[in-house]
Amino acid sequence: MTGSVLERSRVLIVDDSVDIHRLLKIRLRDQNLDIITASTAAEGLRITRETMPDLILLDIDLPDKSGFEVLAELKNDPLTHDLSVIFVSGSVESQDKVRGFDLGAVDYVTKPFDMAELRARVRSALRMQRLVRLLAQRAHLDGLTGLWNRAHLDVRLRECVDAARRHGRSLSLVMCDIDHFKELNDTYGHPFGDHVLQEVARMLEEMARSEDICCRYGGEEFAVILSETDHLEAMKVAERFRARLEGTVWSAHEDLRVTASFGVSSLSLNAIKSPEALLNSTDTALYEAKRTGRNHVVLAQPDASLRLSAVRSAAG
Ligand code: GH3
Ligand code: MG
Ligand code: MG
Repeated sequence: MTGSVLERSRVLIVDDSVDIHRLLKIRLRDQNLDIITASTAAEGLRITRETMPDLILLDIDLPDKSGFEVLAELKNDPLTHDLSVIFVSGSVESQDKVRGFDLGAVDYVTKPFDMAELRARVRSALRMQRLVRLLAQRAHLDGLTGLWNRAHLDVRLRECVDAARRHGRSLSLVMCDIDHFKELNDTYGHPFGDHVLQEVARMLEEMARSEDICCRYGGEEFAVILSETDHLEAMKVAERFRARLEGTVWSAHEDLRVTASFGVSSLSLNAIKSPEALLNSTDTALYEAKRTGRNHVVLAQPDASLRLSAVRSAAG
């Protein structure tokens, strides 16, 4: 590693001196960075939330509030909690450095800077930030299929439900469970079962839009969050996938037909307010699909226990 930053990173400089903006822009020019600047704490906080920089170089002496207060605000907000901040300050007082690190800064640099050292510290902070992101992402990935896992679904479903309700947008959830998968494992072996799970995941991703969130919810159970999608559209998506899976020829076992059952639910249709309620109603619909013969899509209706509309495919 030469120390050069290979991927382009976004760095926000929050400092009330335009001379510092200019100096840092010039001296960090060869570091493959997109540099954004802010002159006040308020502007820095706003730009941070808008652009989610990889690193913030934060002055302590700002006109409207201190850099310490800015960092405390960033740490209090789950959205910005994990962003990396280097304090850049004229103060060499050890109590300021201690306060900065205790608030969660990754580094503390004093002015006037030694430019070579500052550049090295910026590279080091960016490397660390990338590692932290990678680890966080891995913790949300399913090892077998490469889809998002249930932990990720829980986080994203909450975000999506909140956003959909805030903006009055539709949101649907599709859950799918492979039919008689235990039998498939018992008949063809566990490794072939794993292969089927990987193929199902691949087909799901292939058919989903890039903004859809495909997850492996459990063993042979998958979930897809469909933003800005009403129940009718979600039913179509599920039915398309159901038909494709049923029609898939498995080269190792040409007589085999793998099918799955689907539950669909939608925020608006069911006046649902929480991610838990959306999951529950989708799960109830999926259970109903299993109970009523498998290999079809069932839509959860407002009173799920009384009215479940089963949509049977022409083939089903
Ligand atoms: P149903 O139609 O009611 O869904 O029946 P099923 O057999 O699909 O459901 P059941 O819950 O009885 O069995 C699920 C099976 O999935 C049992 C479990 O061994 C298998 N399974 C779970 N995770 C994996 C995995 O990672 N790989 C493989 N090959 N099998 C798995
Ligand atoms: Mg199953
Ligand atoms: Mg299951």
